[in-house]
Amino acid sequence: MMRTGSGMFTYYGVVRGMALVTALSLAACGGGASGCAVALPWAQATPDLSDGSGGTNRPEHRDKPHLVLVSLDGFKPAYLEKFELPNLRRVAARGTRARAMIPVFPTLTSPNHYSLVSGVYPETHGLVANSFWDPDRGEGFSLSSQAVADGTWYHAEPIWVTAERQGMVSACFFWPGSEAAIRPTDAGDDQPGIRPTIWNKYDGSVPNEDRVRTVLEWLQMPDERRPHLITLYFSELDSAQHDGPLDDPAVEAAAKSLDHAIGLLLDGLDALPIRNRLYLLITSDHGMVETSGEQTIRLDGMIDVTEIERGFSGPAASLHLKDPARAPALRDQINDALERGRAYLRQEVPEEFHYRASPRIGDIVVIMDEAWTLAASSRPSTRDVERWGMHGWDPSLPSMHALFMITGPGIRQGAVVPEVHNVDVYPLMTELLGLRPAGGLAGRSGHIQRSIIE
Ligand SMILES: [Zn+2]
Repeated sequence: MMRTGSGMFTYYGVVRGMALVTALSLAACGGGASGCAVALPWAQATPDLSDGSGGTNRPEHRDKPHLVLVSLDGFKPAYLEKFELPNLRRVAARGTRARAMIPVFPTLTSPNHYSLVSGVYPETHGLVANSFWDPDRGEGFSLSSQAVADGTWYHAEPIWVTAERQGMVSACFFWPGSEAAIRPTDAGDDQPGIRPTIWNKYDGSVPNEDRVRTVLEWLQMPDERRPHLITLYFSELDSAQHDGPLDDPAVEAAAKSLDHAIGLLLDGLDALPIRNRLYLLITSDHGMVETSGEQTIRLDGMIDVTEIERGFSGPAASLHLKDPARAPALRDQINDALERGRAYLRQEVPEEFHYRASPRIGDIVVIMDEAWTLAASSRPSTRDVERWGMHGWDPSLPSMHALFMITGPGIRQGAVVPEVHNVDVYPLMTELLGLRPAGGLAGRSGHIQRSIIE
């Protein structure tokens, strides 16, 4: 789920003594059939009426389409062929899918979800990992901390802010950033942030069926209040893949459970009066590959880790040094010892990763080879499996590629296009919804449309 990926090893303290990072699975009960109790009144979530649409669509938006943006965290496009997933295949037959969506670096949950909804790279929006240190603020961000609700961490506006400030109602059933009031990209520091009209604090235990049912209820609201942009997030498959080998039956079961949820969504959407004005965009944030304890390299075997002040480890690692002047020497020490990755000074990180502009990535960035992970100090000892799924590596690796499928008015039926890019999804969505996009995008306007529109 959202709180997995690389870990922060100096986040709350010093480097030494911290357990290493591997994938952590926090969604204890994401499964649709797993019988979790739900106490939260999702459908009655309190609207946040400040500074956005005020909960009412301006008249010019009321005949515009509705867009449901779905994320199946960690879904690999190959699963469409590998597993029997009739409902996702139904979506593919009705619409257009890409052979792959190219994620952004690092291929972690938070950076990719936020690039999807903002059209910029992590070096711009600032979510450079799931957990990271900000040297300018002197504090850290973590998806499992209160920082997620502080809009000042997010440096680019998500599409629900774009919609709300133009008087279009939006609603999020979970998405990174949706709990925070985020300032528009061009707003001054003194301007207030904006939230979606409807949002909820993240709770991975909410059953998939409840998420789907709630979204369908939102789409039956009266014209004036019915959200035109809706996000819907599922963590179940990501969690199953992190828990063990990718050929574990639990992975197939999770994929089928999500397919069942998509089936409920499709049937519900088909029954709506507005069904012919609906876009359904199904994405994932990254792929997955197997790693193991043997493929975990210890940083403390290469350098004196007491020189590191803060950072995070994993498939990509970030080191904030106590003495930044030591960076070239430590980089060289790591590269002399490291066979399965490469260390860079921040300014040396290859441009293609669109990463080096953010001071949040530290003085040294270590990028590991596929399936190899950098650990702070010790090998994982708590895993009871030999192999498990992980992500975070180079976005150009096929194993890291993500899912993209879309149906709706004017979308080609049964078409398969070569590949699309994560950052191009925001401009696609603003065009489908008739919104003016934010400025300063990395995503290319019209780029995806050319291949998916009839
Ligand atoms: Zn993810």
